Amino acid sequence: MRRFLIAGNWKMNCGPKETSTLLQGIGEQLNGMPEKVDGLVCPPMISLTTASVELQDIEGIALGAQNVHFEDNGSYTGEVSTQMLNEVDSEYVIVGHSERRQYFGETDSTVEAKVTKSLDAELKPVICVGESLEQRKDNEHMLRVRKQVEAALVNVDDEDARNVVIAYEPIWAIGSGESATPEQAQEMHDMIRSVWADRFDDEAANSIRILYGGSMKPHNAEELLSQSDVDGGLIGGASLKADSFTDIIDIAAELSQ
Ligand code: PEP
Repeated sequence: MRRFLIAGNWKMNCGPKETSTLLQGIGEQLNGMPEKVDGLVCPPMISLTTASVELQDIEGIALGAQNVHFEDNGSYTGEVSTQMLNEVDSEYVIVGHSERRQYFGETDSTVEAKVTKSLDAELKPVICVGESLEQRKDNEHMLRVRKQVEAALVNVDDEDARNVVIAYEPIWAIGSGESATPEQAQEMHDMIRSVWADRFDDEAANSIRILYGGSMKPHNAEELLSQSDVDGGLIGGASLKADSFTDIIDIAAELSQ
């Protein structure tokens, strides 16, 4: 049985002070993470150290970064390495978010390099994939996402496959208030799981956690998380408020009973 992973992508929100406040709020609202749900928060780089300290008081919520570079160190102004993320106790790293692909030149090939580097450093990549509205209208969405997943996995071996998380995030649903329908999410997640079965084996396909992202909120979380191949959420806007983030965690906990 896969455990739900409820992950917050804070994007460029919450410096160290706001990070403390938000995590303390989350800790108070939760009053103990539900046993069967895993939590994750991904603050901006500058807030990782603060978050790491705050999370010592919240069992069950892991720390993740929103990006990483694929070289060890050197002349890469503004970048952060896997070793630096290890040092601040980051367990996960988001790779290939559509905003990074759209605004910062991330490609399938840099995503692949970052995934490989992260796994080498024992960081769990949350690989983001998703189609544009145009690609969906042209009925190319399944093919596009399949290609993104396959490209990210080129150097992933059977052992590493256990440490990968996929987030299906239709670009048109991110920050728009309009989520994918549960059926659209299920169809895509099922396809992604089949890519896993083809590339690895059935056991790996049954274990991989595939998150849905794109306007997941407390009001639609239940119907999305009820889909058999939806194993959690990557949540932007609703992860920035303690009550909406913890409401979604509670919904996941209910569904895990
Ligand atoms: C995201 O950016 O990963 C995301 C899903 O954002 P939102 O929940 O705000 O749509």
